[in-house]
Amino acid sequence: MVIVMRQDATEEQLAHLVGKLQEKGLTAHISRGTERVIVGAIGDERVLQSVPLQAIPGVEQVMQILQPFKLVSREFRKEDSVVDVSGVKIGGGHFALIAGPCSVENWDTLIETAQKVKAAGANLLRGGAFKPRTSPYAFQGMGEEGLKLLARARQETGLPVVTEVMNTSQVELVASYADMLQIGARNMQNFDLLKAVGDVRKPVLLKRGLSSTIKEWLMSAEYILSRGNHAVVLCERGIRTFETYTRNTLDLAAVAAAQELSHLPVIVDPSHATGKRSLIEPMSYAAMAGGADGLTIEVHPRPEEALSDGDQSLLPEDFAKVAQGLRRFAGVCNQTW
Ligand code: PEP
Ligand code: MN
Repeated sequence: MVIVMRQDATEEQLAHLVGKLQEKGLTAHISRGTERVIVGAIGDERVLQSVPLQAIPGVEQVMQILQPFKLVSREFRKEDSVVDVSGVKIGGGHFALIAGPCSVENWDTLIETAQKVKAAGANLLRGGAFKPRTSPYAFQGMGEEGLKLLARARQETGLPVVTEVMNTSQVELVASYADMLQIGARNMQNFDLLKAVGDVRKPVLLKRGLSSTIKEWLMSAEYILSRGNHAVVLCERGIRTFETYTRNTLDLAAVAAAQELSHLPVIVDPSHATGKRSLIEPMSYAAMAGGADGLTIEVHPRPEEALSDGDQSLLPEDFAKVAQGLRRFAGVCNQTW
């Protein structure tokens, strides 16, 4: 249930309402918009049947939210959410251009990539230190050493850093180095991990699971918001279909659908969605034209030497060309960065 407070409601009236909800064993999530305060009552709403919430001073409207996801729903918050990643805004017309290698491999490659993507216009740096690999024999990432290199690259370039956290025991460590925590596709329904990142106050990039529906994806985001962390950005990264020419199938309709159902920003990962370097440019433009709030693109200066995902990594000069094209479209797509 969502309770909209009157514009002139006082803090005392808000506290009174929250007290009433807590008395009934519900949790109150307070969202302060530019216009007014909205309170989400989370828990078994049947206990509210005997409480005339509408009569509580300061309450303007009481809404039953029909979707299973509540805090992430558009019904809960009409305006687009804007997520701030160490000063870089994502959503509501602020476009995120995240770029970097699939994995952090060594300092020289990382800093070369970071400097080149920054010069091309990227506003966030990506790179995996803990890598979810299909084969246990494949490169598993540099671990904490990789996080240290990312932090150093941030210091040298000023680009905030996005990196994956794979399990609950890594959350504190990764959060101590990164500006944004990535939950990978394979972990989208690792509910303990979702709760753990919901408990930290760092923005989260939540990738859509390989075989997850849009609703399941939004329910996973709900886990994070329900713990009080509202800084979540969704990422469509392709889903499994019968098609094998591309690594996955980029579900662009899911971007618009998620934005229709939710106020959270939604970005696109054309690298993992297609698995093919040649398809990154057209799918990046398509994502921006379709209303995506950003892109995350894998870039490597020597893709043939990459320890992971070389086939889908753009050369820095090709990334620069994509960024330039995006700049040309940004105006008509109501995006700035
Ligand atoms: C990644 O971004 O490096 C990654 C592993 O992505 P996904 O979880 O979408 O496969
Ligand atoms: Mn990758």
